[in-house]
Amino acid sequence: MKPFSLTQPKDADAAIQAHAKLPDAQFIGGGTNLLDLMKYGVMEPKSLVDLQDLSFHEIGPGSDGGLRLGAGVTNAETAEHPKVKKDYPLLSQAILSGASPQLRNMATNGGNLLQRTRCYYFYDCATACNKRRPGSGCAALKGFNRIHAILGASEHCIATHPSDMCVALVALDAVVKVRGPEGEREIAVEEFHRLPGENPEKDTVLKESELILSIELPSSNFSKHSHYLKVRDRESYAFALVSVAAALQLSGGRIVDSRVALGGVAHKPWRARAAEDFLKNKECDRDLFLEAGKLVVKDARGYGHNDFKLELAPRAVAEALLQAWKGQES
Ligand SMILES: Cc1cc2nc3c(=O)[nH]c(=O)nc-3n(C[C@H](O)[C@H](O)[C@H](O)COP(=O)(O)OP(=O)(O)OC[C@H]3O[C@@H](n4cnc5c(N)ncnc54)[C@H](O)[C@@H]3O)c2cc1C
Ligand code: SF4
Repeated sequence: MKPFSLTQPKDADAAIQAHAKLPDAQFIGGGTNLLDLMKYGVMEPKSLVDLQDLSFHEIGPGSDGGLRLGAGVTNAETAEHPKVKKDYPLLSQAILSGASPQLRNMATNGGNLLQRTRCYYFYDCATACNKRRPGSGCAALKGFNRIHAILGASEHCIATHPSDMCVALVALDAVVKVRGPEGEREIAVEEFHRLPGENPEKDTVLKESELILSIELPSSNFSKHSHYLKVRDRESYAFALVSVAAALQLSGGRIVDSRVALGGVAHKPWRARAAEDFLKNKECDRDLFLEAGKLVVKDARGYGHNDFKLELAPRAVAEALLQAWKGQES
């Protein structure tokens, strides 16, 4: 690891100023992703701006009956918070399906939003990777691409976004509140992460020195019928090959409203709006859910090793919707 300076500001404005002023700076939350990247030489910041003394470590009421999750709150605290478990069980379930208890105790909500892809080649500095070194090529295109994207990829990058939490946040219409040198703004989580296009080095729409303050959850009608399904190589401590956040608002057996979002299939958490539109005002039924799943992969393509996702994704969507229909166990 290369030498770096560590600054420990006491409030958000000081953190933003330090980030803007210091050479080649990165914020650091729990460090569970950034420190690995620094050890591998993938990211080599000269300055770290530590966020642990900032006052954004709380969960509290949001606007219009929603909930505000501080960016510095750990993933463990978020998943176990009584209000999250009661009103947003989808989020709790998604977070608890990720990483390990030790990691979730360290990982912060802000850091989770900005965790970087798990593409093997991104972490291996001996290989070509447009995300790590723009213009160098993409070793995954013709390489081992089992974990890679089937939707929204480009000829420059076929990586996937690895977060479980963010898939649930997209399904729940969450919004990220950020502050930077030019002031504060709010960004829907669905718009927060980018598709790779010609600039895969940019994961999100965040501007230079912008700090994530909180995640705002609107009030939800989906607490009774939601499910996070994660398909992976091991039952625990593994990233999703395909994951689905499914939520239904029901009147009798009829679908008033729904949410379907996928992880492990694209450079960003993928909201399946065509499936949601298709489900509207229909009676819940297994075959209906299978049809909705097929719509998700209508424009998908595989790159060889990941072709199995073309079949896995629609089935995972159908199963997640089925489980959401059955309702929460607890
Ligand atoms: C072995 C292993 C297994 C894992 N498995 C899973 C899994 O199955 N599912 C899953 O979803 N995740 C998984 N993770 C990833 C884990 O969830 C992330 O590493 C974690 O959420 C990152 O949070 P952090 O606070 O540690 O971020 P850090 O490592 O501190 O930071 C990550 C990035 O976020 C930036 N950042 C942090 N906070 C802010 C802020 N407030 N404002 C602006 N920028 C900020 C940093 O500058 C950095 O670029 C795994 C990680 C490991 C190491
Ligand atoms: S898929 Fe993206 S992250 Fe992976 S090697 Fe290609 S450019 Fe790099």
